[in-house]
Amino acid sequence: MESLIRKNIRSLKPYSTARDDFKGDDISVWLDANESPYPTGANRYPDPHQKALKAAVAPMFGVAADSLFIGGAGSDEAIDLTYRIFCEPHADNAVAIAPSYGVYKVAAEINDVEYREVLLNDDFSLPVDRLLAATDSHTKLIWICSPNNPTGNSFPREDILALARSVHAIVVVDEAYGDFSTRGSMIAEIPAQPNLIVLRTFSKAWGMAALRCGMAFGDSRIISYYDRIKYPYNMSSMVQNEVLARLATDIGGRVAETVAERGRLARELSTAPCVKEVFPSDANFILVRVADAGTLYTYLIDNGVIVRNRSSMPMCDNTLRITIGTPDENSRVIQLVRSYPLL
Ligand SMILES: *Cc1c(COP(=O)(O)O)cnc(C)c1O
Repeated sequence: MESLIRKNIRSLKPYSTARDDFKGDDISVWLDANESPYPTGANRYPDPHQKALKAAVAPMFGVAADSLFIGGAGSDEAIDLTYRIFCEPHADNAVAIAPSYGVYKVAAEINDVEYREVLLNDDFSLPVDRLLAATDSHTKLIWICSPNNPTGNSFPREDILALARSVHAIVVVDEAYGDFSTRGSMIAEIPAQPNLIVLRTFSKAWGMAALRCGMAFGDSRIISYYDRIKYPYNMSSMVQNEVLARLATDIGGRVAETVAERGRLARELSTAPCVKEVFPSDANFILVRVADAGTLYTYLIDNGVIVRNRSSMPMCDNTLRITIGTPDENSRVIQLVRSYPLL
């Protein structure tokens, strides 16, 4: 596994932060980090290891704290770090499904890594054989978003495992929408299949998008490299404390309502005159194919409703991606789409 990691990263001596040299609580005078001694409520550097937060989050996902990386710029931070750990710029490549989340490609371009897109099958299922065919000896990463953004479907565990078993590369499974799916997380497969990395986020079901907190789960030997190359203070004390306090929230009721509303939206929209197809979704959005996405999109905006036009993405001709809102918001979308005058 460690042979997949870039040589310079393997031999990196990480920046050791101000507080790494001692353990214990017997220090009362802090003169090591050139902080201000005056208590402003923000004068001390945050815990670079996020110990309290990790101790709370790890058991929620059934893992040890050393199998968990926490990013302070959401899971987008983990996506960028993943390239930096595994991909030699201008030499290695990443393979990904298309259509999928746009950040994988942007981060590849930033890191000067070739990005190979493989279209989903016509029914949006996982093209395992074609993904494998797109790999070569320089393929370090395979990106699988499940449930997939923007198509909404998730992929069977067996398909993802078949892929992971067949490659000498990292398979990254982005489960940003995993909380809305009845499929279990791939995190449980990591011990038996250590080339899997699973991304999760608190931005969607947990309602903490503003806090920017995302996670990567993996074999502890791999996760240690995320911690070595991250910015030392990648998450403020305020955010660590705020996320920690919100972990006690019971999100079950909200998730159940979102899932029920997803069903209602799908049913009601599928019989609207301008709608051609509503794709099945395991996420908190639905992808809808309509007669003319551009004009419907503008009509919705003119009526104060913004959705995402995904028509420019591969396989997504004339589609809108609609996030599931509150019941009232969804009713408004249903009413507007159903009454949209077809020309
Ligand atoms: C929203 C989203 C994320 C981003 O999560 P953050 O933690 O907010 O950065 C990651 N992956 C996918 C597929 C998403 O749709």
